[in-house]
Amino acid sequence: MRIRGFFRQVANIFRVQYDQPDLIRAQVSALSRQIPLMYFLLTANALALSYTHYGAASDTMTIVIPAILSVVFFCRAIVWIKAGDRVEDLAADIMQLRRIRLVALIISVISSVWAVNLFSYGDPYQQGHVAYSMSITVVGCILCMLHFPPAAFIVVGIVLGTFVVHFGLTGNDVFMAIAANMALVSVVIVQIIRSYYAAFSELIASRRVLEEQHRTTQELSNQNRQLAHLDFLTGLANRRDFFHRLETMLAGADDATRFAVAVIDLDGFKPVNDVHGHMVGDDVLVQAGQRLVSLSGGNSYFARLGGDEFGLIVDHYGNEADLTLLGRALCDVIKVPFETAGGPVHLSCSVGFATYPAVARTPTGLFERADFALYHAKKNNPGSPVLFAARHESLIRQESGIEQALRRADLDAELSLNFQPIFNLLDGTVLVNEALARWHSPVLGRVAPDVFFPLAEKTGQIGDLTRVLFEKLLVAMATWPDTERAAFNLSAQDITSLERTEWLLERIHDHGLAPHRITFEITETALLRDFDAARQSIETLRQSGARVALDDFGIGYSSLRLVHELEFDSLKIDRSFTAPIARNPRSQRIVKTMFDMCDTMGIRCVVEGVETAEQRDILMQFGCRYAQGYFFAYPAVQPVFDNLTTLSSRRTTIAHGL
Ligand code: C2E
Ligand code: CA
Ligand code: CA
Repeated sequence: MRIRGFFRQVANIFRVQYDQPDLIRAQVSALSRQIPLMYFLLTANALALSYTHYGAASDTMTIVIPAILSVVFFCRAIVWIKAGDRVEDLAADIMQLRRIRLVALIISVISSVWAVNLFSYGDPYQQGHVAYSMSITVVGCILCMLHFPPAAFIVVGIVLGTFVVHFGLTGNDVFMAIAANMALVSVVIVQIIRSYYAAFSELIASRRVLEEQHRTTQELSNQNRQLAHLDFLTGLANRRDFFHRLETMLAGADDATRFAVAVIDLDGFKPVNDVHGHMVGDDVLVQAGQRLVSLSGGNSYFARLGGDEFGLIVDHYGNEADLTLLGRALCDVIKVPFETAGGPVHLSCSVGFATYPAVARTPTGLFERADFALYHAKKNNPGSPVLFAARHESLIRQESGIEQALRRADLDAELSLNFQPIFNLLDGTVLVNEALARWHSPVLGRVAPDVFFPLAEKTGQIGDLTRVLFEKLLVAMATWPDTERAAFNLSAQDITSLERTEWLLERIHDHGLAPHRITFEITETALLRDFDAARQSIETLRQSGARVALDDFGIGYSSLRLVHELEFDSLKIDRSFTAPIARNPRSQRIVKTMFDMCDTMGIRCVVEGVETAEQRDILMQFGCRYAQGYFFAYPAVQPVFDNLTTLSSRRTTIAHGL
């Protein structure tokens, strides 16, 4: 058993280690640099030996054999040099190692036989040369094949073995000493090869571990990078990736580059969250993302920019008509009801497009223009696509002009208040005077509140406006009879900031006014921005005694939940229902339903925008009690405290009234 084990160990020494592919590759790579050198060494030594033995031995031994050997060595060296340090597949590398082992065997045998033969012809000097030449050749070859011990051991075994036996048998003391020396050197060399090779394979193994670690780190950092560019909910790219892509596309843009950027916004999504909860809201967003992507061709890229807003980049679009078609398809696909755990959800979407290079040449320029087109789509053609056009550019300029003027404005001097009364139609008394802001800019002249309030919201200046206007109202009210009340409009930012609400109450208190004299008007859209914060502000205001009215009711996402969950003192039906009321039975039905609802809930219902006697009469038939509109009074610098009958008899030009 022991003997078999020993032979197995010896056999292992000469085996190629197939189980370590990296080691095999490293061996072939190292050998491919060293083997050509070894062949040159072999050629030089063979020629040197044949030179010193020329004439002493036969021509076959000193010319033919060395010539053949030199040609073979030279050719092999050239083959190796030409092949270079190529990376082949593993099977080819294993074949290569086997071939090296075989060639080492053949060359060792031939060289040893040749040298031993030469030895018998020469004088002591020449024999010394043979011994010397063989020794340094073996050492040289071994050094060249350090990375492949099987071949090195074959060389050591055959060449040194032959010489040790051959010299040992000569009976000459010198040669026997040389043989003993060589045997010792062989043992040392074998040991050196073994430890060098062990260190080499360890190095390769640790390099592999390092490479694996590096690969894992690389993979992790790639994953991190991907995650940082991913929207977790929908699995689409996120806002950061969207802008990164825009930047990359613009950086690589040339004269032929044409692409379009779109911003897509879901209409009616916010109430889905409020009514059905966030789980359903999230589900709808995921489904919406999938539907949008299902329409994408190979040239489009989608991202979720945040909330219910998606971004799209269409590379190399055909023409503007194609974009409109794509926009319509996007709108249509969102209109199909969404099946959710909370039941079917109906949405629509608006799309704004901006094209490169026609419309803008920077990422923000493109995005802002697409966003502006979207804003116009929402305002004028909800549920459809709008392409940014030249007329929008002048609008943008106008808006930024207004923004600048507002930023530089002396708010205290340029802002003022108008008052428009709401009447009780049954007895003609004034219920409340609504304060309406007016801005007279020294640069732009009069600017409508519909225009500057949304801009002030956008630029974050709204808080300053509210503070200045409310202060003006409180100062004005100090001169009013104690019985007269005012209504004041709050913006979305006012109502979602508890700090602002508390400030308002503090100011009422500081001016010594009874809070019930003030009604704060809040629009539905303002509530939807942050329902919970708005609810808290409304509660705080009402607890102090102030009143709260829901303004512009019916045009937003009128959800009964709003009216039901938040306690309002009154509700103002938007004027868009009043305008067609004389001719449109549908508006009549809606208004009637709203009256009934307010009756049931015990809250006041005010109708806005009454412009004609006909409208007033129809409304009164339906049971309307409180109304506001040009028919009764225009907004004016002075508030109205008179009864409606007194007012109409006093005004001869406009004979309105009961
Ligand atoms: P709103 O709160 O719905 O105010 C009523 C608007 O309708 C006023 O326009 C008023 O002039 C107009 N109006 C009144 N009666 C009639 C009518 O019979 N027919 C028509 N067609 N319109 C009528 P105004 O003053 O231009 O204000 C527009 C909007 O600006 C207001 O709508 C309100 O949302 C906002 N706003 C005005 N003042 C303030 C304010 O002090 N703060 C805030 N946050 N918003 C304000
Ligand atoms: Ca109002
Ligand atoms: Ca209103």
